[in-house]
Amino acid sequence: MERLLEVNDLQVSFQVRDGEVQAVRDVSFHVKKGEAVGIVGESGCGKSVTAQSIMKLIPSPPAVFKGGEILFNGQNLLRYSEKEMQKVRGKEIGMIFQDPMTSLNPTLTIGKQITESLIKHQGMSQKEADLRAIEMLKLVGIPNPDKRLGQYPHEFSGGMRQRAMIAIALACNPSLLIADEPTTALDVTIQAQILRLMKDLQQTLDTSIIMITHDLGVVAELCDRVVVMYAGKVVEEGTIEEIFTRPKHPYTRGLLRSVPRLDQPKDEDLIPIFGTPPDLIKPPVGCAFADRCPEAMKVCKAIDPTFYETSDTQKARCWLLDPMAQEVKSS
Ligand code: SF4
Ligand code: MG
Repeated sequence: MERLLEVNDLQVSFQVRDGEVQAVRDVSFHVKKGEAVGIVGESGCGKSVTAQSIMKLIPSPPAVFKGGEILFNGQNLLRYSEKEMQKVRGKEIGMIFQDPMTSLNPTLTIGKQITESLIKHQGMSQKEADLRAIEMLKLVGIPNPDKRLGQYPHEFSGGMRQRAMIAIALACNPSLLIADEPTTALDVTIQAQILRLMKDLQQTLDTSIIMITHDLGVVAELCDRVVVMYAGKVVEEGTIEEIFTRPKHPYTRGLLRSVPRLDQPKDEDLIPIFGTPPDLIKPPVGCAFADRCPEAMKVCKAIDPTFYETSDTQKARCWLLDPMAQEVKSS
């Protein structure tokens, strides 16, 4: 499968009063055509900043792109001007957010919000755009779409707003959809419906998806591969099967133990990961997870581990995977 998106060594910092927060530290991953990739981690791990960097939605300053590249169809988006990015946003990459109320325009009807980009990006007439909007609302399961077209966001329920936002994001048939915690604010039943909808759409429209979430359950529902982030870095990457059945990084194992999962017996105890992530103004020299890691060794605090590949598709950044680890452990 061809690579649609390739993020290489991305570094993003934020200037704050006390210094520079190194929010994204050398992040690399890729998304193939038609693939759904989950980016998981606790809040503040850099997953949203990574997603927003792809769309260039973070104002710079305060954000500073310190290095790396974001290749979309082989073109480095970091070199694009705002004008060029406007053509990419919506048309080639769509985005949906946790809270539709903050990203939908409250003063425009839902219909207008879908047709606007169709007229602007696809050169459709108002009539053609209206027909396409009705088709999109139908596709995302909104009943009576022709009536709904003239309604405002506040006239929609939370679940319906999220569907409407997906319709807007997919109207121009983008090749990549970035979803940042799209179901977090919804109740469990609606959440499951939205995820099923996204999965169906991904298969029908062959859209690639990046799903940003703290919830491994969401990833299991939708994704083919998972990228685990901690303290601004990717710490593990693998297929769904590898991450859920053979996680290699202690942080991934911790995440799996700390969230309820559908495939787990109900009485299995959930164990939270104790402690908090490090301050990214002064990131630790060694492994950033060392203070919280039940398996930490001496070497961990001194030197940051590199990636160890454990299969063609899985790799993790942890000293435990070093063949010398046992020796180091006892030294
Ligand atoms: Fe734990 Fe050390 Fe591995 Fe970091 S490198 S996750 S501290 S064992
Ligand atoms: Mg976030």
